[in-house]
Amino acid sequence: MRYISTRGQTEPLGFSDAVATGLAPDGGLFLPETLPQFSAADLKRFEQCGRYAELCFEFLRRFATDIPEATLRGLIAKSYTTFADPSIAPLKQLGKNLHVLELFHGPTLAFKDFALQLLGNLYGHQCAVRRESINVLGATSGDTGAAAIHGLLGKPGTAIFILYPDGRVSPLQERQMACTGAENVFALAVDGSFDDAQTALKDIFGDQAFRLKHRLSAVNSVNIARVLAQCVYYLSAWLRVPAGERDNVEFVVPTGNFGNVLAGWLLQQMGVPIRGFKVATNQNDILYRMFTTGEYCMGAVRPSLAPSMDIQVASNFERFIYTGVGRDPARVREVMATFKATGAYRFENFDRGIFSASRCTDAEIGGIIARVYREHGYVVDPHTACGFKELNPDRVSVVLATASPAKFPETIRAAIGIEPTHPSLEALKTRPVVKHLLKATPAAITAFIERHAV
Ligand SMILES: *Cc1c(COP(=O)(O)O)cnc(C)c1O
Repeated sequence: MRYISTRGQTEPLGFSDAVATGLAPDGGLFLPETLPQFSAADLKRFEQCGRYAELCFEFLRRFATDIPEATLRGLIAKSYTTFADPSIAPLKQLGKNLHVLELFHGPTLAFKDFALQLLGNLYGHQCAVRRESINVLGATSGDTGAAAIHGLLGKPGTAIFILYPDGRVSPLQERQMACTGAENVFALAVDGSFDDAQTALKDIFGDQAFRLKHRLSAVNSVNIARVLAQCVYYLSAWLRVPAGERDNVEFVVPTGNFGNVLAGWLLQQMGVPIRGFKVATNQNDILYRMFTTGEYCMGAVRPSLAPSMDIQVASNFERFIYTGVGRDPARVREVMATFKATGAYRFENFDRGIFSASRCTDAEIGGIIARVYREHGYVVDPHTACGFKELNPDRVSVVLATASPAKFPETIRAAIGIEPTHPSLEALKTRPVVKHLLKATPAAITAFIERHAV
């Protein structure tokens, strides 16, 4: 299987190279050259996979075709042993036609672990095969950095440097990054905003010589391995719904960068008969507006109670656009150039297909947490709450629970008077915080990397 760029100006790459490259050099995003089309026999075969890791292997072996199957199977098995729930992604029924898919049983208690545990092992494997070290660098406003760190924790031949705005991530998120005790992990608290960190990072990656010298790799939400790993929990959930209801399933996805919901949609494009997807945004509603009006138009980010969905530009959306414009890279370039220049693009005769959308303001989140608790005795985190804004009564809704409520104790306490806890977070509270305070300048950050890179 080869991977092409949505912008069509990069030579197609094999799986491992596409994963190592992350963002295509022409600025586009990698996608499989052709999507497999699953037959009824394929679906049956998926259904017969017992454990989650087996299903994941059965799915990914069709994509990671340049990794020997036995190796791939081992990497996948290792990636999901770090999850606390034996079914990895349990599907819980809350009522008639209503399920939640719990995606928060990984080491950092948010769905990003599904992709980043695997990506960490793929990086580790690559280092071993190529006998090279790799230095991973990223900026985070919270969940991604923690999940990336836990994906690479203690892996030989790797180091990870995560920048975050000092004092502006939640104390628990900071502890997940800064209390690991691992020698290859560097939590860099910069004196500036997330945007300052992001700007410094762009500069550093723009310095070709520095990037090559340290074999720097970016951690971000556009890596194709992340998207493919995420397809698997949609498949797993869909197979757990009773057979007679499977053709009526609508996945409800709390959405920021469009990475999560894109994975479900790709699976549907591979012939899994999923009925629909609901894109559930918070008050940062660029995708809600897109799917209701056909206009993709940037607004200003307003920090919310569901911070991992506070985005202006949905970086994975380009993969959806690619299909929307008839898989024509020239059209993709035109859309992205217009969007970059003007902050907006209007799709004429936009057909939203099997997508619907909802938007949830901060003022509504607490009320929804209270209502779900009252009606179902179930506690949802503020991101998942956005998914419960409105459900289609004619569908079997599967709401993706993207984070554990224990990560957001203040919001939950304010809504229902109970403060959820989790043993892994409690354990963090007694461990020392090891963070490095740095100026948010490329010079300060590169000097630090020079000293600590592997
Ligand atoms: C990252 C994140 C999201 C948004 O996911 P996207 O792939 O960016 O749409 C939602 N909820 C939680 C808890 C997250 O960490």
